[in-house]
Amino acid sequence: MPAYKTLQDLPDINGKTVILRADLNVPTDGKEVTDMTRIDRVKPTIDALLEKGAKIKILSHFGRPKGQVNPDYSLEFLAPILSKAWDHDVAFDDENAQIILLENTRFHEGEEANDMALAKRWADLGDIYVNDAFSVSHRAHASTESIAKCLPSYAGLLMEQELTALEKALTTPERPVTAIVGGAKISTKLDLLNNLIKKVDHLILGGGMANTFVAAKGYDVGASLCENDMLDTARDIMDNADKNGCLIVLPTDFIVAKEFKAHAQSLNVLIEEVPADYMALDVGPKTIMRIEDIIQKSKTIVWNGPMGAFEIAPFDNATIEIAEYVANFTRLGDIVSVAGGGDTVSAMAHAGVKDDLSYLSSAGGAFLEWLEGKTLPGVAALSS
Ligand code: AMP
Repeated sequence: MPAYKTLQDLPDINGKTVILRADLNVPTDGKEVTDMTRIDRVKPTIDALLEKGAKIKILSHFGRPKGQVNPDYSLEFLAPILSKAWDHDVAFDDENAQIILLENTRFHEGEEANDMALAKRWADLGDIYVNDAFSVSHRAHASTESIAKCLPSYAGLLMEQELTALEKALTTPERPVTAIVGGAKISTKLDLLNNLIKKVDHLILGGGMANTFVAAKGYDVGASLCENDMLDTARDIMDNADKNGCLIVLPTDFIVAKEFKAHAQSLNVLIEEVPADYMALDVGPKTIMRIEDIIQKSKTIVWNGPMGAFEIAPFDNATIEIAEYVANFTRLGDIVSVAGGGDTVSAMAHAGVKDDLSYLSSAGGAFLEWLEGKTLPGVAALSS
């Protein structure tokens, strides 16, 4: 386990001020918040700090104002929304409240430049730093990295929960470990694939990216999405997987169609039978059976990316079936399942299993960088 401290390690903080880095970069349509997940997920840390009698000053970014003060990106509108969601008054930039929301960190040029002088100014506003923003911990910014060097620093409950789930999945997993990787292209997932083949026992490939691997094995994938300039790279990944004792599992059949539109006429074909004018848009039932057999024999599942073009039926079938299968084994306590990154959260929501995996990470880029085996500066700073 890394040596970061958690809220359990806090000294007496009654009357002290905690600088809390949260991720309140919430989606909005104008000024209404359209998804409260990020706000709700910080509540346990807020409650824990309040219970200990601390005053809380919250740092968060919002959008991309690029180091300029821009009223369109002010966090002021969030204070009443937070007050309601957290059941406690949250004041905006006002010294006299117990919970104070500070203005958008990215109004300062020094934030993204990881400027120590800016970090010190923020650190001077409090006594202790708590980082609960795993989703921005892949960024070395003043509010995630430099500030941790200025104050005693602790991981918040959400950060701790996320790190514990990720460690269970890849650092100290119960084996066999199976990674399921789908999505559109391999070009955006090279680091991830190269890291996973060193860590997992099975690597199941689906989605558009599997087409490139199938083509690299000499099959004709017709009009499917395929990165022809990546065929050698795909072969290298397969060779390296072999050397590392990682079994790569490719589709053996596809659902193909001439058009990518709702309820387009589709066919189930073997990988050697893809007609020239058809696209592989999902993996087929034989492949699903093989994948389910491997899941059944696994103890840990790590999942990123849909198995097909899941936004349009019927090409969402494999993603839904496999997600339900993973959720079922998770509910029975037979496997640990961790999913996240890119479109994976919406794919799991579409499959109706959002709350049924051991951990569904909403961290996006940070989750992917962790899958790539990279050190996350915001996490490393808590351990130093
Ligand atoms: P990513 O963000 O790389 O995880 O990719 C997700 C996207 O991949 C989704 O928009 C899917 O529609 C798309 N996708 C998955 N499978 C296929 C496929 N077989 N052909 C084309 N697009 C696909």
